[in-house]
Amino acid sequence: MSAALACSGANPASGWLCIAGLGPGDDSLVTPAVSQALAEATDVLGYIPYVARVAARPGLRLHPSDNREELDRARHALALAAQGHRVVVVSSGDPGVFAMAAAVFEALEGRPDWQALDVRVLPGITAMLAAAARAGAPLGHDFCALNLSDNLKPWALIEKRLRAAVGADMAMAFYNPRSASRPDTFDQVLAVLRETCEPSRWLIFARAVSTPQEQLQCVSLSDARPQMADMRTLVIVGSSTTRCVGRFVYTPRSAS
Ligand code: SAH
Repeated sequence: MSAALACSGANPASGWLCIAGLGPGDDSLVTPAVSQALAEATDVLGYIPYVARVAARPGLRLHPSDNREELDRARHALALAAQGHRVVVVSSGDPGVFAMAAAVFEALEGRPDWQALDVRVLPGITAMLAAAARAGAPLGHDFCALNLSDNLKPWALIEKRLRAAVGADMAMAFYNPRSASRPDTFDQVLAVLRETCEPSRWLIFARAVSTPQEQLQCVSLSDARPQMADMRTLVIVGSSTTRCVGRFVYTPRSAS
């Protein structure tokens, strides 16, 4: 179907919107459900590098946009679906983890017309699970995930939640640990960990998991350096029981 046909044939009753996760990078980690939605789509929206992962084909319109435009992107996607288009909004990893699914539901607030649309969330393999699998099983017991970006919340809240998670002795997965626009906040995170955890605590720096640039570093807290993290890195901090066996890091399933 050509793009023109896809547009002119749009039937408002048959439009739908899927918010889909593309997984951490490798095509083998995209679920069949997501591949099927992409094969049926007329429009794909998302952050530029994520849309670049979707193969162009006749009849498919790609709408890449900048990272900070999530709510506008969500509204655009809903408007297209309301016009009868088959729309996929793509996120990396899982769309419900620090990604587009929540933005779409935010855009649905106050719009009963859009709330009646066929909207589905298609899960993906989130970076934390792909990184944990590479290292062994560091998330084998209770854990939490924290987004270290202060774009949408103040640093004080990040620090409060970090201290609470350490206090509960949970393993932690850090998304968005360090970026060019905030090179120093990860130093502060390491300072809190050094103040609250023993120096032998395990940290895993998993960069670009499942891509050709993949790098995995498992180090003790005393050897951790801020430069080990960037925006393509997922950081896992073990609990006090997390340990090493051979080349693997794991957290035992029981705790006292
Ligand atoms: N929805 C995504 C997360 C988006 S936030 C998911 O579920 O994975 C973006 C952050 O995810 C990055 O800063 C990094 O911390 C992490 N990330 C995404 N892909 C990654 C990968 N292939 N390897 C390591 N970390 C990754």
